[in-house]
Amino acid sequence: MKICKKCGAELLDEAKFCHICGSPTETKEEEFVIDSENLIEKIKEIIHEGNVTKITIKDEKDKVLLEIPVTVGFIGVLLAPWLAALGTIAALAARCKIIVEKKE
Ligand SMILES: [Zn+2]
Repeated sequence: MKICKKCGAELLDEAKFCHICGSPTETKEEEFVIDSENLIEKIKEIIHEGNVTKITIKDEKDKVLLEIPVTVGFIGVLLAPWLAALGTIAALAARCKIIVEKKE
């Protein structure tokens, strides 16, 4: 038996989506700690790898600085304002944590 991470419903083991709230059950998280000068390049790399649903940027004290909801076709025009925001973060923080949520 699996439990939906979003709404807590009990799910069948083979379920790919929650039957209550519809969120995918097979998400996993990866965490990176990087120097902020590499932040933008790393984010671009992560997005180009695909299957990403959300990227969260935190500072070294685990304070959330930015949450980027990644949707289909999230490249180019849609990405540009986020890159500007990331540039601001990179200028303020020496090191950042990147938490990447992915569909499996
Ligand atoms: Zn659910």
